Amino acid sequence: MVLTTFAAAEPAAPVIAGPADPEPASLVTLSVPGQAAFDRLVASGADLTERVRPQPDGSIQVDAVVTPGQLDGLKSLGATLAPGAPAQARPRATAPKDQIVIERAVWFRSRDGYFLSVEASSNAGQAATLTVTWKGARGSDGQAPMVAYVDAGAYLGHQLSTPVPADGRPRWVTVTSAAGGTAEARVKEWPDGERPDREGRGYQRDFVTRYMTPAQLDERVKSLHRRYPGLTEIITLPYRTNGYRRHAQALIGTPPAAAVVITSAAYGSEGGNDLAVELAGPGAPDRPLRVNVDGKLITVSLATDGSGTPVSTAAQVAAAINATEGAGVTATTYRDDAGGGVMAPAPPAQLSDFLQAPAGVSREPARVLALRIGTHRDGSRTGVLAYAQEHAREWVTPLVTIEAAERLLRNHARDRATRRLLERTDIFIVPTVNPDGANYSFYDFNAQRKNMTNHCPAAQSDPAARNTWGVDVNRNYAVGSLHDGYFGASANCQSGTYAGPAEHSEPESRNVMWLAQTYPNIRFALNVHSYGGYFMWPPGAYKLDGRVTLPRPSEQDLAYFLRSARTIEEAIAAERGTVTWPQQTGPVTDVLYSAAGNSADELWYDHGVYGWDFEVGADLWNPATRRWEGVGFQPPFSEGHAEAMEFASGLIALIGVAADHRER
Ligand SMILES: [Zn+2]
Repeated sequence: MVLTTFAAAEPAAPVIAGPADPEPASLVTLSVPGQAAFDRLVASGADLTERVRPQPDGSIQVDAVVTPGQLDGLKSLGATLAPGAPAQARPRATAPKDQIVIERAVWFRSRDGYFLSVEASSNAGQAATLTVTWKGARGSDGQAPMVAYVDAGAYLGHQLSTPVPADGRPRWVTVTSAAGGTAEARVKEWPDGERPDREGRGYQRDFVTRYMTPAQLDERVKSLHRRYPGLTEIITLPYRTNGYRRHAQALIGTPPAAAVVITSAAYGSEGGNDLAVELAGPGAPDRPLRVNVDGKLITVSLATDGSGTPVSTAAQVAAAINATEGAGVTATTYRDDAGGGVMAPAPPAQLSDFLQAPAGVSREPARVLALRIGTHRDGSRTGVLAYAQEHAREWVTPLVTIEAAERLLRNHARDRATRRLLERTDIFIVPTVNPDGANYSFYDFNAQRKNMTNHCPAAQSDPAARNTWGVDVNRNYAVGSLHDGYFGASANCQSGTYAGPAEHSEPESRNVMWLAQTYPNIRFALNVHSYGGYFMWPPGAYKLDGRVTLPRPSEQDLAYFLRSARTIEEAIAAERGTVTWPQQTGPVTDVLYSAAGNSADELWYDHGVYGWDFEVGADLWNPATRRWEGVGFQPPFSEGHAEAMEFASGLIALIGVAADHRER
C-alpha cells in the first residue's frame, strides 16, 4: 500500500531522471513477519515512521519512507508491502494451563466511535493464544483475539483494541487462554484524567491558517513579541545551524567507471553555482591531459593517443583537476568505482547545489529562536520547554507550539485560568529546532527527516545521494546514545536515523540542551513529533542484548508521568474527541521502539526534567474498511489544523500540570 509519493517542488522545465537525480521516495506501509525481522529493520537504519502496529497474526506493520532501491534491500530483510486486507489470526499450538494477568481494561469514546482496549499477559509468554470476551450494557457482548507484543525479544504482553457499538459499553472482560488460563476485570473509562480548566467566556483560539516555513515561524514569534513585550522575550539560541545551503556539484560522464563527480569548495549560493566544467577533445594526436581555469570555466583537455582518440580515464581526470590550483573544486570518481573508464569529450556542465527555494529564502546559517512567555521570567517559576520539528517533515508540529503560545498571550487579559498559568510558569517555545531541514522539506524533498549537514565521505556524496544526507537530530543527544551502545540509531551517514559522528555534533541538538542548562528552572519539556498519536516518556532506549533499558523512573515518578498524561490526554480529547490509545501512552521503550540518543532521555537523566514526547496525528478509523489509517506527515491542511488545535490544548494542559507542580 503506497500512501504518498514524495516529489520535489515542481521543476521549471521537464526533467529526465538521470544518474545525478535521487530516486523518488514513497511513504509505504511495510509488513514484517515478526519481532526478529522488525528488529533487523530498525537495525538497518531504515527511515521508519513512528507508526508501528502489531497484527493479529504476529506480523508487524510499520510506515516507512523508502525509495525503490531501498525497498529491494528491505525485502531481503523479510519486509513486504503490507496488503490491503486485514491479516487473519493463525491458530496456535496449545500449551499447558497458564496464568493470566489483566494489566488494563478500558473503554473509550473517540471521535471515530467507541472502543475497548485490553492489555493482559500470560506466563506462557508470546506463544499464548489469548481471547477477550466482554459483556456490557443492554446485554451486549463480543469476543476478539489478542495480539502478542514483543520488543527486542522481550515479551511485553498481549493487546487488543476493538470497536464496540455505541450503546453496548463493555463493563466486564474475561481473558481466556487456549491453554486454559483465565482472568476477569472490570472495564474502566479512559483517559478519565482530571478535566482541564474550563475556558472562560470569550476565550480566543485558532491562530494557524497554513503550514508555516521557518521564515514564517520566525516572523510570527517576532510579531507576538512586538505585540506582547511585557509578557514575552525572544531568546536567540547560541548555535547557528549550518544553513540551507550545499556545495555545488556536477556528475560528468557515464557511471560507474567513466564518470567524475565535481564538487565546489564554495557553497552554491556563494559562487559554487557559477562554476562549469568542460571536457574538451583536443582534436590532435599525442596530447597530454591538461586542465585550464578561465574565470568560472574549468576546461579539461583530454589526453589523446597517436590517432587523436581521447584516452584519459575518470581517475586520471579527477587527479588532474585536483592537482590544479585555483580550480575551486574537488573531483572524485563515482562512488566506490576506481574510475578506469575512458572519458569522452563533454560540453560545459554547470555546477548546481540543486536547491530550489526562491532566492528570498536565506542560505545563511540560521539562528534558532525561542519565545519565552510568562509574567515572571526571572527563573523563579517552574519552566516548561516545548520544542518542535526536530524532524523536518513533521509540518504540523511547529503549529502546535505557535497555536499554544498565541492562545496564552491573546487570552492573558481576558481569561483568569490563562493568567494563572502565566503567573506560575515560565514557558520556552521553540517552534522549529531544525529550520534547514524544514526548508529542504518545504522546497526540495518533502520526506526530509534529518538536518542538512552532510557527514558522508566522497563515495556517498554524489548528487543523486543528496536526499539521504544529514543527521537525525533526535538521535544526536548524549544519553543512551548509539555511541554508548544503545539500540535504535545508525552509524550509516545515509540512514534515516543517523546519529551523527559524535554526541551533540549538531548545533540543533546543542541548542536544546543549552536551554536546559541555561534555565535550570525548566522542569518540564515536551518534544513534539508526528505522527501516530502517542504520548510518551522515558526510558526511550535500551541495549539490544538483553533489552536493558535506561533506568526506569521510580514508581512514584512513573505514576506521576501517567497521572499527568491522563489529564493532558483529556484535554486533547476535548478538542474533537481524539483519544490517545492507552497502549500508546507510556514509556517510549514500552509503547514504540528504542530510540538511542533522543532528547527526552537526556533531559530526564541529565537534567531531571520531566521529558515527554507527543506524536501528534492519531490514526483515523475508516468505518468502510474497518481499519485504522495513518494520517501521514503532511496531511491536507484541514487535518493538520485539527491536529494543531488538539495538541495545542494538550500542551496548555501540560503547562497546567507544571503550574500545579510542587517539588517533593
Ligand atoms: Zn519525529
